[in-house]
Amino acid sequence: MEIKLTIISSPREGSRTVIKSKVSPIFKGEGDMNYICGNCGAILAEKVRQGQIRNIVVHCPKCGRYNEFA
Ligand SMILES: [Zn+2]
Repeated sequence: MEIKLTIISSPREGSRTVIKSKVSPIFKGEGDMNYICGNCGAILAEKVRQGQIRNIVVHCPKCGRYNEFA
């Protein structure tokens, strides 16, 4: 299964935990859910468990937008 993440504007410095990486996927797990960038569709988290990643913002290495894991 696949979940499209929500794009948010650049978070204010220090207001959120922001994960930046030059490669995707940024997270890899043993679950069955892929989380994809809400803008370009790059896989940011591959095969993770739903709900495993919470309350962080991930900077998409492909398009540079910020995706929210709510
Ligand atoms: Zn993207």
